[in-house]
Amino acid sequence: MLIAGAGMAGLVCAARARELGLRPRLLEKGTRPGGSMLLSSCVVWRHLEWEDFRDECPAGDERLQRLVWERLDDALAWLVSLGVEPVWDDTENPRTTGKRFDPRALTALLARDVELETPLPANSAEPIVLATGGFAKRLADEHGLLLRANPWSDGAGLDLGLARGAAVTTGLDEFYGRAMPAPPARIVEEDFVPLSQLYGRWARVFAEGGTEITPASVSWSENDLAQALGRQPRGRAWYVLDDEGLVHAQERVDAARAAGGTVVDPAELPFETPPGSRAAVHVAAAVTHTIGGLRVDTRARVLAADGSPLDGLYAAGVDAGGVATGGYASGLSQALVLGLAAAEDLAR
Ligand SMILES: Cc1cc2nc3c(=O)[nH]c(=O)nc-3n(C[C@H](O)[C@H](O)[C@H](O)COP(=O)(O)OP(=O)(O)OC[C@H]3O[C@@H](n4cnc5c(N)ncnc54)[C@H](O)[C@@H]3O)c2cc1C
Repeated sequence: MLIAGAGMAGLVCAARARELGLRPRLLEKGTRPGGSMLLSSCVVWRHLEWEDFRDECPAGDERLQRLVWERLDDALAWLVSLGVEPVWDDTENPRTTGKRFDPRALTALLARDVELETPLPANSAEPIVLATGGFAKRLADEHGLLLRANPWSDGAGLDLGLARGAAVTTGLDEFYGRAMPAPPARIVEEDFVPLSQLYGRWARVFAEGGTEITPASVSWSENDLAQALGRQPRGRAWYVLDDEGLVHAQERVDAARAAGGTVVDPAELPFETPPGSRAAVHVAAAVTHTIGGLRVDTRARVLAADGSPLDGLYAAGVDAGGVATGGYASGLSQALVLGLAAAEDLAR
């Protein structure tokens, strides 16, 4: 069997497959293992309440959501049993539960016999688990957005699935993302977390031309706001803050300025801002991972349009669509649970 992609989904799939007596080949296009997981905060979580998951991701596939929600705790216990110590035993978020790991330690533990700089082959008679991390790069390039992910996930898994007759989910234009300081800010991978401008719910938001686009409400994850920015030309907008907003935002605004981002006095903008505005930050939407993707069942088997599984083809992680559609859920949980499901189905 082949596993394409040595990020969260591919690494756990390979570890579980070996445990079950299979001998997977783990192919990785990039120059290092770990995928976007290595760059992440590595909080592997689920909503505490099932109803909250459904409410937050209402357009998702309920069967897949149920799988992730019900299986995550056991999956985390399995991960810990391999010998990785969580750095947090819970998420520190009252809405969610899960564990946080050190992504370097997790990658070092799981990355065995990874064939680096070896992309998924176009043709193979062997069963394949697609774990290439979705198509964040393609989506970002198409819309002129920033990429806040590994540089290699450009849709190879999706393309192979489509070539074999796979069906896709809705939400192919949806992404999980963040507002980041707009260029000329210099953002290297290590800055993806600390430079996130995660205070948009306390800002007034203006399009570059000056039209106010502040949403009526912004979710706790601000993923809805990141996607609203993504609908602006090149994903650019201004976050305008008053004194109260700065209480929540000051540290990240300073980080944006230090990285070379544009932070100005609102009076310098070519449009009116509300009285009491103190700072304006030029932000840009950045894509972390795609939300739509290949349709799979709860065994991670890729499905055709008629709902039947395609022979020997699996998708795990964010190559599979339909878990977080319409909202935001943990990509790492999806990767962990579907990676295990694929290995277990192959070992049946
Ligand atoms: C800054 C940041 C913070 C994040 N924080 C969190 C968090 O706290 N909690 C959370 O749940 N999620 C978080 N995420 C998202 C999370 O990292 C992803 O959802 C998760 O890594 C998806 O797992 P995956 O295995 O599908 O993809 P990845 O982990 O990205 O792995 C995909 C792998 O496939 C490889 N690949 C691509 N194309 C090919 C090909 N053609 N052939 C072979 N290999 C290929 C890639 O190089 C990569 O190694 C964060 C992401 C980032 C960038």
